[in-house]
Amino acid sequence: MSQPRQPISVGKYFLERGRIDQQQLQEALRYKEEHGYKLGQALVALAYVGEGDLIEALRYQARFPCIHLRPGLVDTQVAMRLSGEHGRRLRAIPLNHVAKHTTVAMDDPSDDNALLQLGELLGTPIFPVYAESSAISSTLEWLHGKDPLAPQPMPAAAPEPAPPIPTPTAAAPAPTAAARSGAGETAFRLRAAAAPTTATPAEATDGPDDKRVLQAVRGFLEAALERGASDVHVEPRAQEVVVRMRLDGTLREHARLPRTWAGPVVRRIKSLSHMDSGRADEPQSGHVRFEHRKGPVDLHVSTTPAHHGEGVVLHIESAGSAPRTLADLGLTSSASGALDEMLATGEGLVLVVGPARSGRTTMLHALAHRLAGGSRKVVALEPSDASLPDGVLHVATDGRAERAFVRAWHAALLQDPDVLVTGDLSDVERARSALEAALAGRHVVASLRARSAPEALDRLCAAGLEPYLLADALRGTIGVRLVRRVCTGCRKEVAMDEQLFARLGVTRKDAPFHEGKGCASCHGSGFVGRVGLHEIRPLTVPARRALERGEGLAALVDAVRTDGLPGLLQDALHKARDGQTSLREVLMAAGAAPTPATTKATR
Ligand SMILES: [Zn+2]
Repeated sequence: MSQPRQPISVGKYFLERGRIDQQQLQEALRYKEEHGYKLGQALVALAYVGEGDLIEALRYQARFPCIHLRPGLVDTQVAMRLSGEHGRRLRAIPLNHVAKHTTVAMDDPSDDNALLQLGELLGTPIFPVYAESSAISSTLEWLHGKDPLAPQPMPAAAPEPAPPIPTPTAAAPAPTAAARSGAGETAFRLRAAAAPTTATPAEATDGPDDKRVLQAVRGFLEAALERGASDVHVEPRAQEVVVRMRLDGTLREHARLPRTWAGPVVRRIKSLSHMDSGRADEPQSGHVRFEHRKGPVDLHVSTTPAHHGEGVVLHIESAGSAPRTLADLGLTSSASGALDEMLATGEGLVLVVGPARSGRTTMLHALAHRLAGGSRKVVALEPSDASLPDGVLHVATDGRAERAFVRAWHAALLQDPDVLVTGDLSDVERARSALEAALAGRHVVASLRARSAPEALDRLCAAGLEPYLLADALRGTIGVRLVRRVCTGCRKEVAMDEQLFARLGVTRKDAPFHEGKGCASCHGSGFVGRVGLHEIRPLTVPARRALERGEGLAALVDAVRTDGLPGLLQDALHKARDGQTSLREVLMAAGAAPTPATTKATR
């Protein structure tokens, strides 16, 4: 630590200025001892001074830089290097890196012990700055989610940080106070009948009571829906239970619960989702519906036994959102043209290919929407009809059960469809059904989880599909990915990064590129929502030949790449130049693509 520091004597400062008297000081010292506060915090809690006064005192006494903490000051990449748990314990938020130091906002920058720990945790020297306690609390909540233990600290848990100080000056953003008042209030009501939970005696005595479990579950689901998360993950670990949410495709830690909560929380979720809460030795899945101010929301819930107890994933089905059309997906004009060409014949197999959470289902449903117009009959085989467009006949399939799929497929064929839409051809029997329907002259639009189209085709052949039949039926492939969309509220041009440019094959002429610096409307992440990337490949003659001859992945890649159409990387760069996404997102998408970065960008 290079900057000079001296002990803070807040009491003396206020005494000298006549802001408090000796009696008030003694009272604050008592209060400080009783509640484990700092003296300044105690003075604020007793409303003898305001938080603004405290800043002034610290600025004067210790010459710590004082800041008004607001979202724009936080570089979330840096902030997230300190876990929610450590951040709450040390009352600290890393803000940015300057000259090999990490600037950290703290409500007590004079706490040497905390500084030492921060240095170890972050691996750099620390430059501490003072920020109001309430702003630290609200920023911690905004970065890591609500502290599930804050309203009622757990006796069994590790010592919790002091609760936020009630402050007469409202420096914190408005939602905090309301959010703090309790997770389980009226915004959400569980519609599903709550079956009694069966806790083992040990956990029944050590663990939380059912009311608090339900409050915690409601709390994190409420937060997930408010933030537009797609999934909530409940992950029991050796020491604790971690709750994470997927926001714009990225998992972010939301809360940590004591280890003793694992059983009660998981059993509670299972009983709400109509699963067998007494069984923990096999995967289960179920549904639960929430009534919420924006309308009912369906959650698909699955549990999986794991080393430290059952993990739970709650997938939020976007029942309320309108189906997306192809126009909504932001296809470039060349991609649209190629897609028109692929769909023009009105028969044969079209494959939508991408890894997990790459937007395959959105693309599939947008295609269903497009094909449902006009005189054709479109039947979709999907687990749920959420987000399927009007005019598409839905035949329900259970996502996993193979026999159920075969039954549903036959039921769909009995409807004499012109177009069949189905997700997940990963199973060879499903793929064969789709292939046969396509060869019989139906238009089959299906999705397959794979990193690239050549890989998907290679895998289908390896699974036993005859390459010449596949080559005959296939009309083309659609590769998809999602990248995060730069927040328009805080979008800024970024400096040239020659190294990054070189890796992505762009030049100074392609600049400027943009990034979000983080603001209130993007929760400091710099991103709001996502942008689809598309690689539309009508099957060319060379690709068809390579496929027919069963030449394998490398030949397929070559054949597919020689058609001159933009690939995922080019589409990503196009969208980065448009300012829709950032180059770092492009780099991540390129890293997930099969053979990235060697391709020269094309305008
Ligand atoms: Zn923003």
